[in-house]
Amino acid sequence: MTRNRPIYKRGGVITERNPDFCAVRLRIPAGVLTAEKLAGIGKIAKKYSDGEVHLTTRQTVEIPHIDPDLLEEVAHELKENGTPLGSEYDEVVNIIACPGTAGCKYSNIETYGLAKRIDAKVFGREMPIRVRISLSGCPNACTSPVLNEIGIVGRIRPLRIEGMCTGCGTCAKYCKEAAIIIRNGISELIPEKCVQCGICIYSCPFDLLKSEYCHYLITIGGRRGRHPHPGKELITVETEDEVVAVIEQVVTWIYRKAWSGRHLADQLDELDFESFRTELQVKFNGGTSK
Ligand code: SF4
Ligand code: SF4
Ligand code: SF4
Repeated sequence: MTRNRPIYKRGGVITERNPDFCAVRLRIPAGVLTAEKLAGIGKIAKKYSDGEVHLTTRQTVEIPHIDPDLLEEVAHELKENGTPLGSEYDEVVNIIACPGTAGCKYSNIETYGLAKRIDAKVFGREMPIRVRISLSGCPNACTSPVLNEIGIVGRIRPLRIEGMCTGCGTCAKYCKEAAIIIRNGISELIPEKCVQCGICIYSCPFDLLKSEYCHYLITIGGRRGRHPHPGKELITVETEDEVVAVIEQVVTWIYRKAWSGRHLADQLDELDFESFRTELQVKFNGGTSK
């Protein structure tokens, strides 16, 4: 059987348990598809497979049971459909995101557009290790960003206007972290308990809680799988442009410094992660961690 080796070795192509067949994974940043693209994937699955698709944990679609000899045609049709082959091996894989402000009332940031911007810059880049990127619109972290090599979380700092609080306690009841107490008849924030979800900001019936600013927390070196491990805080930045710039620099840093065959989480210290963090903080925050 003749195999199209160049395509077969692309990240979006996976040999199945029965090696006479393969599955293809698609590039679908944030898992967002138009109805037309979805219908197109269905047609391709019917034409080249048994008509079934699998929705993966990384918000992409996998078409199983494809004859490897037909990969060239399948890849061409997927590209024409606007859903090209994805990635799976040592490269930057499908970028995932929660609905963000497009659908979730808790979100502090827009996520779909940002995921697409990050995808356009780094998706599929060959790397010494697999690099997963995940975005969540708030600290509820529905897409588990801290368990990815690169995680992004939208946060917001609450700020109470001085001297006008009635001490009604509504904000304290809304806070799930017990980060607000009522002392001397007014609300008081306990910063070390606050996860910066922003929920309290909308709870005050007198509109006394304001947001200081929205920002993006970026983490590095998380992992899932056999030995899950949360990533470390790398930097907080305030704009989408800064997020994209930081992610590009992180991906380049991993490319240049990481060893293959080991999780990023296991080699962060060896790679002098602290120096890299300081370098980024000087560049983006003037040296403060925020
Ligand atoms: S992470 Fe936050 S913003 Fe995103 S879906 Fe979950 S609750 Fe909503
Ligand atoms: S931002 Fe969230 S965690 Fe912080 S005080 Fe408000 S509700 Fe509590
Ligand atoms: S909800 Fe508003 S008025 Fe009531 S305690 Fe909180 S900040 Fe004060």
